[in-house]
Amino acid sequence: MTERGDVTPLPSLKRAMVLYSRRVWERGWVANHDGNLTVRLPANKTLATPTAFCKGDVTESDLLVLDKAGKRLEGRWKPFGELNLHMVAYRARPDVGAVLHAHPPIATGFSCVGVDVETTIIAEAVVSLGARIPTVPYAMPGSEAQLEALAKVLPWFDAVLLGSHGVLTVGKDLEQAYLRMELVEHLARIQQAAISVGRPRSLPEKDVERLLQKRKEAGLGPEARGLGSPPP
Ligand SMILES: [Zn+2]
Repeated sequence: MTERGDVTPLPSLKRAMVLYSRRVWERGWVANHDGNLTVRLPANKTLATPTAFCKGDVTESDLLVLDKAGKRLEGRWKPFGELNLHMVAYRARPDVGAVLHAHPPIATGFSCVGVDVETTIIAEAVVSLGARIPTVPYAMPGSEAQLEALAKVLPWFDAVLLGSHGVLTVGKDLEQAYLRMELVEHLARIQQAAISVGRPRSLPEKDVERLLQKRKEAGLGPEARGLGSPPP
């Protein structure tokens, strides 16, 4: 959607999809055929990257339009296998217009040992992502257990670590989902640097509360959407 509330034309969405797909690959957040991007379209349709593609090579003519069951309406290639992760996100979050899944190495490394990526070590991160980034326990990608666990946390959070797997971010558009992925990886990198020289310290609790209030005032997070605070 544009700022006036108009629906963004499909060609612009396709251009954005190719741009961010390339960026995800250029940043080294995916290897081989990893990672996938989708955008919500009107009438329960979805624009999606195809399966079995290096994200650096995707062009506009490779993109797919899918129906609400994930069946291909337009495009030459097959949909990707992790599509259910995206569908769960759209169902859980009517405000979400785009979903991004990738394996950024530092944050994914954290997910492989069960260490959370902390937001409360940097003030800006609390405003952007809230008081924490939840980790959904490891389960086979796309399994019922994983989808159920994701559906539970997504109403509250815009970025989620998938145990021993990677990261999923949502946004009102692809740019926002991309920037959230960038921040998760950046935070993981800062935390890794901090751990290498000492013990990262959390910000004082009263400051975290103030930052969460700023988050709400910026129209971000579950409170701004009329939900309460996220469960601890
Ligand atoms: Zn994956």
